Amino acid sequence: MDHTQVVVIGAGPHGLAATAHLKRAGAEVLTFGEPMGFWRTMPTGMLLRSNWTATSIAEHVGPLSLTSYCESTGTDVQRPVPLDSFIDYGMWVHATVAPDVDRRRVVSVEQEPRGFVVALADGDRVAAHKVVVAAGIAPFVNRPEVVASLPP
Ligand SMILES: Cc1cc2nc3c(=O)[nH]c(=O)nc-3n(C[C@H](O)[C@H](O)[C@H](O)COP(=O)(O)OP(=O)(O)OC[C@H]3O[C@@H](n4cnc5c(N)ncnc54)[C@H](O)[C@@H]3O)c2cc1C
Repeated sequence: MDHTQVVVIGAGPHGLAATAHLKRAGAEVLTFGEPMGFWRTMPTGMLLRSNWTATSIAEHVGPLSLTSYCESTGTDVQRPVPLDSFIDYGMWVHATVAPDVDRRRVVSVEQEPRGFVVALADGDRVAAHKVVVAAGIAPFVNRPEVVASLPP
């Protein structure tokens, strides 16, 4: 099996940021995940609580920053940043740095002598020298029984 240099698991803000920086450093990167997927599950109309700088993906100064996104696409983003605007910005980062994101689900990562084997839900396996896990917080949801009957 050929080894990819780096596999990044996650195509949210952190996975896209890791992908951007690794590619800039010249690494061969394969990124898995649903681009900005978790953010589409958040409440409609939500405003981000992070400020402008902290809402930038990968860098707050540079070609991927939120400011650069606004300038290069002619988009006017409000402050605080609305959820829809942040998703649009994340998708722009995705299209800019990793348009080839593989949406298949990773089911396991196993160590082997030359690195890792990443197993996918469809049975495919990818060998990698390094693996970055940026899988987010969604799998850790704990909804206590006492609030289970409340609407989302
Ligand atoms: C209601 C709410 C409001 C928030 N507001 C803010 C805010 O204003 N500002 C802020 O900075 N943060 C906010 N957060 C926190 C924010 O959600 C996380 O900090 C952020 O999403 C983390 O980004 P991430 O890239 O690490 O993970 P995520 O955005 O969760 O991305 C995870 C990625 O991993 C992929 N993935 C997961 N498991 C697998 C797998 N097994 N195989 C393949 N891919 C996988 C997913 O498809 C996705 O692409 C908020 C969170 C919530 C719930």
